[in-house]
Amino acid sequence: MSILCVGSVALDSVETPFGEATRVLGGSANFFAASASLFTSVQVVGVVGEDYPLEKLDFLRERGVDLSGIEERPGESFFWAGRYHYDLNSRDTLETRLGVFADFKPRIPESFRSARHIFLGNIDPTLQLDVLNQVDDPGVVAADTMNYWIEGARTELLQLLERVDILLVNDAEARQLADEPNLLKAAEWIRGRGPSVVVIKKGEHGAMLFDGDAVFFAPGYPLEQVFDPTGAGDAFAGGFLGYLARRDRMDHETLRRAVVFGSATGSFAVEDFSIDRFRSLDMQQVVKRVREFREMTSFEAPVREVLGV
Ligand code: AMP
Repeated sequence: MSILCVGSVALDSVETPFGEATRVLGGSANFFAASASLFTSVQVVGVVGEDYPLEKLDFLRERGVDLSGIEERPGESFFWAGRYHYDLNSRDTLETRLGVFADFKPRIPESFRSARHIFLGNIDPTLQLDVLNQVDDPGVVAADTMNYWIEGARTELLQLLERVDILLVNDAEARQLADEPNLLKAAEWIRGRGPSVVVIKKGEHGAMLFDGDAVFFAPGYPLEQVFDPTGAGDAFAGGFLGYLARRDRMDHETLRRAVVFGSATGSFAVEDFSIDRFRSLDMQQVVKRVREFREMTSFEAPVREVLGV
């Protein structure tokens, strides 16, 4: 089951308290594809300028990522610069230059249109809608967004939500979108606008799944070394949707497991700058981490001994 993904194909300059990287590969589509391609084939739609080192994405091609939907246009590639604070949970955006994304009109290649799983990565919601209008009959539509679009393109974003099955956002974005500080209420508000499933990512503190009346929570994987949190959310989405596409199911048990796979792939993203950790990552390492999650979170409830019931 291949996944069609649209998102930013960017160059990032990132500063963390532990180092910095200048004009490295980034963007929601790259992080998503690097992660999801561990599970299934991925087709990417996006745009880059003449300055983009596309040859550096060859390792993704070798892993079954079809990059033929990335257009090359005269001009500058999408550029994002950010600086992380000491605890790495908060960051400041120093600069966003849309470049060739500013007047991008996505054209979905004929061979991509029959995809069953669609990931609308973090880009202008108008473009996300434009992509949805060009696919035949998607089974599962998952989407991500961020403060930049929640503030700047709210009407279009709300229109998009009506056609989305799964929204993946971080806690700050969920609160901002729903204008509601309580995350349970924010998730409920979002589910009332279209998506039947909401995943709220909380960085190193894990992720929450809201599906029907059920809530599920997976912790973040405890890491000793975190280099660069950029892209962890998209790598989470790649593991999450990659798992769903590979199983071709959407029941609650499968969604719960998908959240754990997402937490695992997200945790690898932060172990190096850019998408570099994915160059050497394979499914065995992911599965090992998923098993560790199980060890870390399962326990026997000694109800009888303590309460005598
Ligand atoms: P994340 O850390 O998961 O939020 O993803 C960070 C990635 O999103 C970076 O690689 C950026 O290139 C990309 N990015 C940042 N701002 C935007 C934006 N406004 N639209 C699309 N992509 C963005």
